[in-house]
Amino acid sequence: MIVGEQKPIKEIMESVAPYKRVLILGCGTCVKTCFAGGEDEVEVLASALRLAFKTKKQRSIEIEELTIERQCENEFIQEAAAGIGRNDVVLSLACGAGVQAMAERFPAAPVLPGVNTTFIGIQDRPGIFSERCSGCGDCGLARFGGICPVTRCSKKLLNGPCGGSQNGKCEVDPSIDCAWHLIIERLTELGQLDNLKTYIPPKNWQTSTSGGPRKLVREDQII
Ligand code: SF4
Ligand code: SF4
Repeated sequence: MIVGEQKPIKEIMESVAPYKRVLILGCGTCVKTCFAGGEDEVEVLASALRLAFKTKKQRSIEIEELTIERQCENEFIQEAAAGIGRNDVVLSLACGAGVQAMAERFPAAPVLPGVNTTFIGIQDRPGIFSERCSGCGDCGLARFGGICPVTRCSKKLLNGPCGGSQNGKCEVDPSIDCAWHLIIERLTELGQLDNLKTYIPPKNWQTSTSGGPRKLVREDQII
């Protein structure tokens, strides 16, 4: 899932301050799972903003709350149309893709981000999330026993460990597991250590974001 966290309330207050009527728009998928932008977070943020503006004795602000299933999918975006029409600005609690999808679909409405999008990851345990994929565009997980060195090795090494790990921890950050320690353990378990005998040439980073914004075309889905 896409992992993000809500922006600090001070930053959000500054961004919505010029507007009188604000629609706080939640997204019911990834950002809901990581407690950044689902229905509950919309409700809590709306109350916090109302209180904060009232306490500061600034001019009154009207806040409407709405959460749609996904802000990044056309199928659901239209559900926000009426709410957007009633307000001066949209404070989106979606990831960066959702914010941009809303801005493209409703070009007349200012759409502000309320969440800092951080990474593609998983929930390790309640409240703890960690990065698992950098979206490099050329997945090699089959070779690495399902553990991504592009994302989880601090040096992004593709042909084995740097030799600096101690007790299975990364020399760059001893609080994290050495990705190559994990890869070798997993490949040993799977009986696939021979995978590492094949040299992997320098990665073609054109499939990653270094080649500019990417586009995925599925010809079979185009109608
Ligand atoms: S190899 Fe690339 S696509 Fe696969 S998990 Fe790692 S970063 Fe993501
Ligand atoms: S210690 Fe392991 S994870 Fe850290 S940089 Fe070296 S090989 Fe990568």
